[in-house]
Amino acid sequence: MAAAQTPNPQDLLAWYDRHRRRLPWRALPGETADPYAVWLSEIMLQQTTVTAVKPYFVRFLSRWPTVEALAAAGLDDVLTEWAGLGYYARARNLHACAKVVAEKHDGVFPKTEDALLALPGIGAYTAAAITAIAFGRKAVVVDGNVERVMARVYAVEEPLPKAKASLKALAAELTQDHRPGDYAQAVMDLGATVCTPKSPSCVLCPWQEPCRARHLGIASDLPRRAPKKERPTRRGVCFWLTRSDGAILLRRRPEKGLLGGMMEIPSTPWHNDQWAMDIAKTHAPVSVAPTKWRSLDGIVMHTFTHFHLELEVEAALITDKRAGAVGGEKDFVWAHLDALGDQALPSVMRKVVKHALKVGY
Ligand code: SF4
Repeated sequence: MAAAQTPNPQDLLAWYDRHRRRLPWRALPGETADPYAVWLSEIMLQQTTVTAVKPYFVRFLSRWPTVEALAAAGLDDVLTEWAGLGYYARARNLHACAKVVAEKHDGVFPKTEDALLALPGIGAYTAAAITAIAFGRKAVVVDGNVERVMARVYAVEEPLPKAKASLKALAAELTQDHRPGDYAQAVMDLGATVCTPKSPSCVLCPWQEPCRARHLGIASDLPRRAPKKERPTRRGVCFWLTRSDGAILLRRRPEKGLLGGMMEIPSTPWHNDQWAMDIAKTHAPVSVAPTKWRSLDGIVMHTFTHFHLELEVEAALITDKRAGAVGGEKDFVWAHLDALGDQALPSVMRKVVKHALKVGY
């Protein structure tokens, strides 16, 4: 085989000028990027797809058009707007970061990677992306798309996550001072639209000549990945408690930990064993006579990054006197079904609500 050529960043930029994606947070050619929009989109895009992020981004930007406006918002409002996007620590960090930028940096995002890294919720990838895209400064931006493109262009066979450091070093070799923001977005666009995970469209690719994986016929097999560990399954029981006017009982989760500060249908802790129902009911937020509980058919299933979750649902109507007692407690709130959209309910709890309503309670 002839010696492989080196991929030329200029070829990729020329392709980008013709095929760039139009995204709501992206400046058009000739426009200056808005650091607030770039930061907001990059936080939302962590572990989430472009399609899922678009409506959230548009809503956030119209409700809070500046970083100062977001900093002045209540955390509950931010969590409620975020509900459904998942990984809720991001929303809490988003709010914390807006406050720091508004209060300590006069509403102006710092321009260096080091200063950005010091802000809540900003890791190495996000700091590099903001530096390159918002400020037009050279930075090595490496996300999953970039890793895939590098692994293929250079035919890196070492599996992820071990290969991360070498893929970043290869990405750094190609990163130039010329149009760093466009270059970063060009590699990501190439990965998202042409060098796709399953069947890359090599005939459309500006790097098809230098691409070693294409020459070797192994493009679709790269990047290789170390086998994933089995995710354990945890189990819990939710308590769907209804007041005589139809309102249901919600509880705020502890600030720290999974889904921190979000609202939930009260439940037992989640653990690996099946719950014995008499023990599970000792975790109910209100004591209800055993005969008043009704087990709803079916199980609500949800998958988090590190485990699967199976939730059974027990339902009961409670007297207004008992409802009044628990409603006065901190962290509990009674919410009417038509106002659940105002509550910061994460996706798993929205599934519980849907399930309880579907099985006809
Ligand atoms: Fe990806 Fe194919 Fe382009 Fe190689 S030639 S970078 S495999 S799309």
